[in-house]
Amino acid sequence: MKIVMLGAPGAGKGTQAKKIAEKYQLPHISTGDIFRANIKNGTELGQKAKTYMDQGLLVPDELVVDLVVDRLKQEDCKNGYILDGFPRTIPQAEALDAALKAIDEKMDYAINVEVPDENIINRMSGRRACVSCGATYHLQFNPTKTEGVCDACGSELILRDDDKAETVKKRLDVYHDQTQPLIDYYKNAGILVDVDGTVDMNDVFNAIVQILGE
Ligand code: ADP
Ligand code: AMP
Repeated sequence: MKIVMLGAPGAGKGTQAKKIAEKYQLPHISTGDIFRANIKNGTELGQKAKTYMDQGLLVPDELVVDLVVDRLKQEDCKNGYILDGFPRTIPQAEALDAALKAIDEKMDYAINVEVPDENIINRMSGRRACVSCGATYHLQFNPTKTEGVCDACGSELILRDDDKAETVKKRLDVYHDQTQPLIDYYKNAGILVDVDGTVDMNDVFNAIVQILGE
């Protein structure tokens, strides 16, 4: 099963992708996580990506596409995967489709997690990310047992630089301009499914399981 997660920044793509990955035993491939790991490790790719991420802009397609296409060739992807945060532009989606077509494959589902803009600022200002394992929480909607400490690994939690209100506004503009057109792209491909992302995260997941099957 090959799945693309769509939705605004903060809609809950990562939250749901992790749950899907666990239930269906598929690798969760998040381009945002890959860039953040590269930034943490001080790689050249990380340094380049950071200049765009800090401004709320998309990293250029040429820095993203080959990275993902190479990742999909790895052994753990042979039974499928969940793409979270990729594609984010029409050229990225076209490059993905072309790479799949070359090996006679195609995406199965594009799950669009719908959350209106007015909910997004709160979602993102309350998001806390683990500096070490990348787990995400929310101060209000998914709090940790001890404030500021990751439940999974005990490391410190931070507010991502790009989750500060001024950057979130820019990221939403970029989303509407460059990423939202993918909804029609996948609708035309006949694989789009919409889920209401405003309800409790477990209910969002139940709706996704209804679509994907038990
Ligand atoms: P995305 O990957 O789309 O950027 P996340 O999955 O990181 O979004 O979710 C953004 C924030 O909102 C996180 O702090 C997460 O805990 C919280 N969140 C996710 N889904 C829900 C939900 N259904 N209701 C309330 N908060 C949610
Ligand atoms: P995310 O963790 O998915 O919210 O991504 C964080 C940031 O990483 C985005 O705001 C972009 O700057 C960058 N990024 C992640 N995925 C992509 C992508 N597919 N294309 C371009 N930029 C990306």
